[in-house]
Amino acid sequence: MGTDRATVVIDKAPMQVHDAHVHFGWWNPAPGETANRYYSAEQTFRFLREQGVESFYFSVSSAQDPSWPHAKLLDEYQAMLSLAPTKAYPFYWLTDERFATISKLDTLLSADIPWRGLKLHNEESDWLGHPERLWRVMAFARERGLAVQFHTGGNRSDAGRYREVCKAFPEVHIDLAHGRPVQEALEVARECPNVFIDLSFMDEEGMAVCAREPSLSGRLLFGSDVPAFYDYLDTSPDEAYQARIREVMTVFGTQASEVLTRNARSFLQIDTK
Ligand SMILES: [Zn+2]
Repeated sequence: MGTDRATVVIDKAPMQVHDAHVHFGWWNPAPGETANRYYSAEQTFRFLREQGVESFYFSVSSAQDPSWPHAKLLDEYQAMLSLAPTKAYPFYWLTDERFATISKLDTLLSADIPWRGLKLHNEESDWLGHPERLWRVMAFARERGLAVQFHTGGNRSDAGRYREVCKAFPEVHIDLAHGRPVQEALEVARECPNVFIDLSFMDEEGMAVCAREPSLSGRLLFGSDVPAFYDYLDTSPDEAYQARIREVMTVFGTQASEVLTRNARSFLQIDTK
């Protein structure tokens, strides 16, 4: 009984879910393999829909390959928007290589795409090591009303290293994605009301610490980091995703609907009814 995974019926979360951290496109090789993998907009959208996800922020990871043409990258964004025009919120994944090819960010983002944010990954591109570039990007985000998602955790991108930029741009809503290390992320969030934290890959203990921090109420975002999420599973992606939602519901209790949905609307300053 229950040995065939395909027959397992998974109880879906009885709540709406917004996933604040989604990627697709070209991605790193699977653990132990060497070839890059491709995740299409269709398969990613289908997976999220099957999980009961109502809406999500996404950025296209093919941007990390400098040889991937800009036009193709924009096609990938358009592909997701055609599947979910009102539910998928595009964040442009900006690398330093792409930034170096243009004189104005406006040129890069001129396509007919309703951009809502930028994704900056400081392990891949050394933004913090080049503050003049980062400040230009942030000034652009402020001017265009875009949110910014920063990867945190790693040699170059621990949360505390973002303190200065978060303080310098109080008008820009910033997601310290993963909130790593959690104490540093908390300290920055305490000082900067514009800082949010998405919980992708955060362990239960870290989430419990965040749940006990009153100043963070309203600023925690559920996120999966699909497809990176798929690399660390010992169950099927469906089961793992649902388990993750349940874990958030358990840890956050009465705050769970804010974390799972409502805060994502405040992050993008979308009216909540
Ligand atoms: Zn990410």
